[in-house]
Amino acid sequence: MILIAGGAGYIGSHANKLLTERGYETVVLDNLVYGHRESVRWGQFAEADLSDIDQIRAVFRKYPIEAVMHFSAYAYVGESVTDPEKYYYNNVANTLNLLKVMREFKVGYFVFSSTCATYGVPQQTLLTESHPQVPINPYGETKLMVERILRDYSVAYGLNYVALRYFNAAGADVDAEIGEWHQPETHLIPLVLDAALGRREAIDIYGTDYPTPDGTCVRDYIHVTDLSDAHILALEYLKKGGASTAFNLGNGTGFSVRQVIETVEQVTAKKIAVREVPRRPGDPPVLVGSNALARETLGWEPRLHELPVIIETAWKWHQKLHK
Ligand code: UDP
Repeated sequence: MILIAGGAGYIGSHANKLLTERGYETVVLDNLVYGHRESVRWGQFAEADLSDIDQIRAVFRKYPIEAVMHFSAYAYVGESVTDPEKYYYNNVANTLNLLKVMREFKVGYFVFSSTCATYGVPQQTLLTESHPQVPINPYGETKLMVERILRDYSVAYGLNYVALRYFNAAGADVDAEIGEWHQPETHLIPLVLDAALGRREAIDIYGTDYPTPDGTCVRDYIHVTDLSDAHILALEYLKKGGASTAFNLGNGTGFSVRQVIETVEQVTAKKIAVREVPRRPGDPPVLVGSNALARETLGWEPRLHELPVIIETAWKWHQKLHK
């Protein structure tokens, strides 16, 4: 059985669906602070908080867990700057609790949600895994700290792990059973979809003077089901004896904020009003990842890689969510 920590959240819930479709038994551990009970539609559910080690132990006692996928984390970059304590405790200290219980129960496989935010300001256009990791916000620091902890635990205790450095997770389940559901929402695509639905008047473009073709930031949007697929491939790689390591998960193609807005206009057939506002602090101009290593090593092949397809899936879910 696979324990999905944070399986009531955006990416974890999609991993739960795909694991189930591939024949795995799952148990979701979530405290429902940001996760939604309605998103746990497959497998078992254990409401527990990673800050309480006895609650984690109870879950490991109850279920025959053989591997852990760890999605639980706070992920608002801006909030991590204003309230770093919240991030260091939840993302780092609570992960230590989870790893401690894994050791107690001799569970040796761990797939970790890391982020391209661990790289900091890119020194090259296409980021590879060997790019220096120098985060520029506490959120990225917490994820990098966990990567370091995993490396040390793998050397000392034989933990087998893969850290997956996501680029911009986007889209929703193709059947629209689950999707992106953040409160508050800060991400570009759902906010533009809100504008398409008339739930907001306009979308703010944070900066139009970047050194990019149209002056707006460029990001690598990767479908959440493709991310989920990589988690399963990473687990299978570890079970076959693959060495502990990290992989980038992106499509290797960048789209600007304006291109995202135009694509939403095409997909939804709605005109989106925009406001050009100053840059948001901490946004690098371009974040695009090479996925060559994950392709070669895991055999990962993003399938829902076209931006209109990503946005269509998100649109279908978004309309359902706000019906
Ligand atoms: N963005 C924007 N307006 C918004 C939200 C985001 O212009 O209302 C931009 C943001 O500056 C970034 C890109 O869209 O360049 C993607 O932002 P998002 O918050 O979705 O993801 P991030 O890149 O921060 O992980």
